[in-house]
Amino acid sequence: MRYDVVIIGSGVAGLYAAIELPKSLKVLVISKSHPWECNTYYAQGGVTTAYNDADIPLHISDTLGAGAGLCDPDAVKLMSESSQGVIRDLIGRGFMFDRDSNGNLLYTQEAAHSRSRILHAGGDATGRHLHLFLLQQNPHPMLSNATVVDLLMENQKCCGVEVLSEGTRKLIYADNVIIASGGVGSLYEYHTNSHAISADIHGICLEKGIALESMEMMQFHPTVFVSGSGARKLLLTEALRGEGAWIVDENGVRFLFEYDERGEMAPRDIVSRAIFDYKQRTSSQVYIACEHFDKEYFQERFPNIYKALRDLGYNLPKDRVPISPAFHYAIGGIKSDLDGKVPGVEGLYVIGEAACTGVHGANRLASNSLLEGLVFGKRSAQMIQRHPLYPCTQKFALGNEPLEIQEDKEKKDRLRRIMWDKVSIVRTANGLNEARDEINEMMDAGVGRLLKLRLLSARAIVESALKRTESIGVHYMQHEGQK
Ligand SMILES: Cc1cc2nc3c(=O)[nH]c(=O)nc-3n(C[C@H](O)[C@H](O)[C@H](O)COP(=O)(O)OP(=O)(O)OC[C@H]3O[C@@H](n4cnc5c(N)ncnc54)[C@H](O)[C@@H]3O)c2cc1C
Repeated sequence: MRYDVVIIGSGVAGLYAAIELPKSLKVLVISKSHPWECNTYYAQGGVTTAYNDADIPLHISDTLGAGAGLCDPDAVKLMSESSQGVIRDLIGRGFMFDRDSNGNLLYTQEAAHSRSRILHAGGDATGRHLHLFLLQQNPHPMLSNATVVDLLMENQKCCGVEVLSEGTRKLIYADNVIIASGGVGSLYEYHTNSHAISADIHGICLEKGIALESMEMMQFHPTVFVSGSGARKLLLTEALRGEGAWIVDENGVRFLFEYDERGEMAPRDIVSRAIFDYKQRTSSQVYIACEHFDKEYFQERFPNIYKALRDLGYNLPKDRVPISPAFHYAIGGIKSDLDGKVPGVEGLYVIGEAACTGVHGANRLASNSLLEGLVFGKRSAQMIQRHPLYPCTQKFALGNEPLEIQEDKEKKDRLRRIMWDKVSIVRTANGLNEARDEINEMMDAGVGRLLKLRLLSARAIVESALKRTESIGVHYMQHEGQK
């Protein structure tokens, strides 16, 4: 099998890149599970856009502010300046963002944005609506339930992928490969991500000597209903706080103001840490309280949260819902340039959450990630068309490492616990060193290839965290004797 372009991943980034590639090219989009099983599908709050040209400098400064000085200013500028264009393109193709009764687009605000500039669809079902729309628009074939287990590399050129599909390992050659495989959610015990998101491609890149960047920067969402039974925990969108929901303790006290004068509107890392600390210090349960919302408005604006919690026995907006922080978003990732190219490797691109473009710095501004996927997805597709490549000449053999062995399941769970206990919201040098030792021990004892890739990615997070000894953005280091 030979293609012009293989795209690993059918989320917002992969699909928007696919749409931008003409039908005259032979393109294949691969997804690990069902095509809709990805983080994009679960996105709730919306897509950020500069509200108008005058808002671009403000959107840039909000993004840079959230990123705590570690963003790449050129990447942020490019993303913000491109935002109105990609939104116009989506609307032009027929995508329906929510509008008021006069047909005006409805914008909402989320934490650390200085104005309303977030578009949404289906109330709190932006990701689902956008994803279905992009799937419909994609003119190229898709290969579902297929896991990429290796990249085919000839010197510094990527020549395709090895996949596991229908129980068989196969080689797929391609002049260009776009990695759009999302973040690292399944490495953590508590997370909001799709089960298809497990950092395997990050691990493959590490094996091939391809650089990852800012891997210590992992974002935790403050308001997650973690009591549910599935691996993926139900996220309660930031837009709830943006529109007035409170975070309270068992006595109804809005304790966030003890930590930050912005209270519920502080950036999510501050809110996550405050909830984590308050729970530890007081042993109080923490709740999200929406009781001051109008019932009809709540049901219309947040229909999915309303229904999901109703099925779990909560009557919103009246009932308070217990919450905890959980892993949410990988800021760090595979290093890319502003066209989505992986530096130093011909024919290899990385976009969306898998990439580290530098737009998020030390902390992602809410709802900037769907936008990042759109902007850089499009740019990678445009770059491919400007930059045709000659196919590789080498013939590759299938890998012979076993993909899974019997003991892997138990070790996978152990890894998740280590990452949650020692590499999550509050980190210590001791905890990180212990995590690295335990990861190495598991690796040395022998594991299947898929777990090895997870362990490599997890170790990259730990090692980056050990290197950055000061706290900044989402990376919080507690030093000995410090409270
Ligand atoms: C619950 C939730 C709510 C969110 N809300 C918002 C929001 O309101 N606004 C916002 O901007 N962002 C939000 N985010 C973040 C945002 O949804 C993601 O960052 C974004 O959708 C990532 O898109 P992506 O295309 O990079 O990856 P994904 O949409 O995660 O897609 C990854 C794809 O890669 C495939 N894949 C992975 N590994 C392999 C492999 N080895 N082989 C083959 N295929 C593979 C998967 O099957 C999947 O198709 C939210 C995230 C979550 C989890």
